[in-house]
Amino acid sequence: AAKAAGGSRWQWFDPAMDHAADEAARMAAELRQALPRGEIFALFQPIVDLTTGAPTGAEVLMRWRHPEHGLIPPDVFIPIAERTGTIIELGRWVLEQACLQTADWARRLGPAAPMRISVNVSARQLADPGFLGTVRDVLAATGADPARLMIEVTETAVLNTGSAARQLAAMRAMGLRVALDDFGTGHSSLSLLMDLPVDVLKVDKSFVSGDSAEHVGAIVVRNLIGFTDDFGIDAVAEGVETEAQAERLRAAGYHYAQGYLFGRPMTTADFEKLFVPAKVA
Ligand code: C2E
Ligand code: MG
Ligand code: MG
Ligand code: MG
Repeated sequence: AAKAAGGSRWQWFDPAMDHAADEAARMAAELRQALPRGEIFALFQPIVDLTTGAPTGAEVLMRWRHPEHGLIPPDVFIPIAERTGTIIELGRWVLEQACLQTADWARRLGPAAPMRISVNVSARQLADPGFLGTVRDVLAATGADPARLMIEVTETAVLNTGSAARQLAAMRAMGLRVALDDFGTGHSSLSLLMDLPVDVLKVDKSFVSGDSAEHVGAIVVRNLIGFTDDFGIDAVAEGVETEAQAERLRAAGYHYAQGYLFGRPMTTADFEKLFVPAKVA
């Protein structure tokens, strides 16, 4: 059941069990307790300037360490959290982590601090009438500069949420930036998307990965950049794993990228090492 839900190799219970509904209910109940039990944590993945390789920001990615089952991938537990509503508390927590961290880095690293921290926001959060209030409260409580925050929403989440355009516009009015995540995977039209108030397009890794400059993804990637440039939108290429892919993106005119080539999701301690050059022995 977990495999079907998440598309990962990870398994929740004995695959021989066929009580899928019971398993899902048990996992949902455990997920509700995960935050108070301290099992949820956040990792930070660099978003880099493609010409220098220097990090310009980070995306915050949530993790759940289950006491018996180990690390559970977000592709498995986020959909469950969305279905059960637990995503509202988890989403607030991850926003708090992002705000605390960005305020801390701004204080300690000064001009070297990462420009911007990105936080994923799910459809359920976007549709929540309390969402804007939560963002406002968390900003006020943490003292984070809204200009250092970006929220990432998928096109699917936006298109399925009636009030999405209004919510995004309100967030921009508060000084945050808005990114459209996993761009290209949602079967929506470009013209529809261009009516949305967004600052950044994150081009999905399915277009970026691949070895040849002639595969369909590479052609999409090459052509999207003219489009984002004309609309004054920044493009970030996701899932860059090889130098050849990075070179293709540079040649196409991309300025920003994210992927294992530049850094995996990491702890804040490891992230800071990217800013403080290691002492040479
Ligand atoms: P996403 O927002 O598109 O995040 C990017 C995903 O791509 C992350 O997976 C990241 O680890 C992975 N990735 C980055 N570079 C590479 C690469 O070079 N190669 C490959 N193969 N993968 C790469 P992760 O951390 O497993 O998260 C999966 C998804 O779960 C996220 O996709 C996002 O939709 C969701 N998610 C994660 N954290 C949160 C959260 O705090 N809130 C919400 N609502 N969703 C979250
Ligand atoms: Mg994202
Ligand atoms: Mg993405
Ligand atoms: Mg994704």
